[in-house]
Amino acid sequence: MNTPDIRALSREELDALVNDLGEKPYRARQLWDWLWRKGAHGWEEMTDLPKAFRERLAGAGLLLPITLAEEQRSEDGTVKCAFRTHDGHVVEGVLIPTPTRLTACISCQVGCSLTCSFCATGKLKRVRNLTAAEIVDQVVLIDRLARKYYEQGLTNIVYMGMGEPLLNYAEVLRSAERISAEDGLGMSPRRLTVSTAGIAKMIRRLADDDAKFNLALSLHAANDAKRGRIMPINEQNDLATLKDALRYYTRTSGKPITFEYVLLRGFNDGLEDARELVKYASDVHAKVNLIEYNPTGDGEFGRTDAKDAEAFQRFLEEKGVTARIRRSRGRDIDAACGQLANKNKVLGNAEG
Ligand code: SAH
Repeated sequence: MNTPDIRALSREELDALVNDLGEKPYRARQLWDWLWRKGAHGWEEMTDLPKAFRERLAGAGLLLPITLAEEQRSEDGTVKCAFRTHDGHVVEGVLIPTPTRLTACISCQVGCSLTCSFCATGKLKRVRNLTAAEIVDQVVLIDRLARKYYEQGLTNIVYMGMGEPLLNYAEVLRSAERISAEDGLGMSPRRLTVSTAGIAKMIRRLADDDAKFNLALSLHAANDAKRGRIMPINEQNDLATLKDALRYYTRTSGKPITFEYVLLRGFNDGLEDARELVKYASDVHAKVNLIEYNPTGDGEFGRTDAKDAEAFQRFLEEKGVTARIRRSRGRDIDAACGQLANKNKVLGNAEG
């Protein structure tokens, strides 16, 4: 048996490989532990495995970890990481400290195919999906930074970095399983949130597959004409289609939905927009996170003034929709929502 990526193997396949290499079954358990719980990124780290076995493993499969190529710290304590894949691509992840949480924001694709007009990642082209192992690696590496800078491990994970999680469905689900499994990183799935631009078919599938993590939907407009202007994905997944899928999801999973809504000045922050949002959010019993717009450099959109954002929030609350304003973090280093775009190209420049 020869495999390019040892972490693409299921537990059963790994058992078979270890058996083929003539080792006892408990060696597979040790190896699995190194790969998925201890985050080993080289065979030499697996010190309790016999050297001869490690050499045979290295001949049978590859370990293809993501490495931390560069980190930047914001004045508010946010840390942006540039990660390099084994084949030389760069994706970004962010450590976001708040008084009560240490959250990792991670990427699931190199680039993105969705071209949302307000998002910096949308200006990159999609290069490839990340594997479950590459997604888990980001969590392991950001967790190490959390321990280094804040003496505490991660409390939350959000799939809100580069890429569209539901267009990399199988690997995203497998990564969430590995992050929450007892023989993985052991974090409660309630502390994981996957954010989608809205792929109706896959939202239904999450419910059918009984996915345990939280789901957030990037709404940004509750009106098809407006949403279509900023999110091309709305063409195949219009608001009515999404609503059906979301209702199916909440009914089947018994879990609530959160809407993300970036306030764009003069575009989606008026009274009529708020009315449409109230109607739509009420129909699916969704909470709303109002997100401050972060500039992406093209000057197309502007940020809603704080007092207008508060008025928008109050309107939603008065109509019975739970709404919170999420202040942005890490803006000074382009680490905030929608700003991940590999601005500091680190290829061939592995400092930090
Ligand atoms: N593709 C997924 C995951 C990315 S999440 C999704 O669309 O949900 C990134 C979040 O940041 C989304 O809610 C996205 O809409 C938001 N965002 C994108 N660009 C932004 C910007 N310039 N300012 C603030 N938020 C932005």
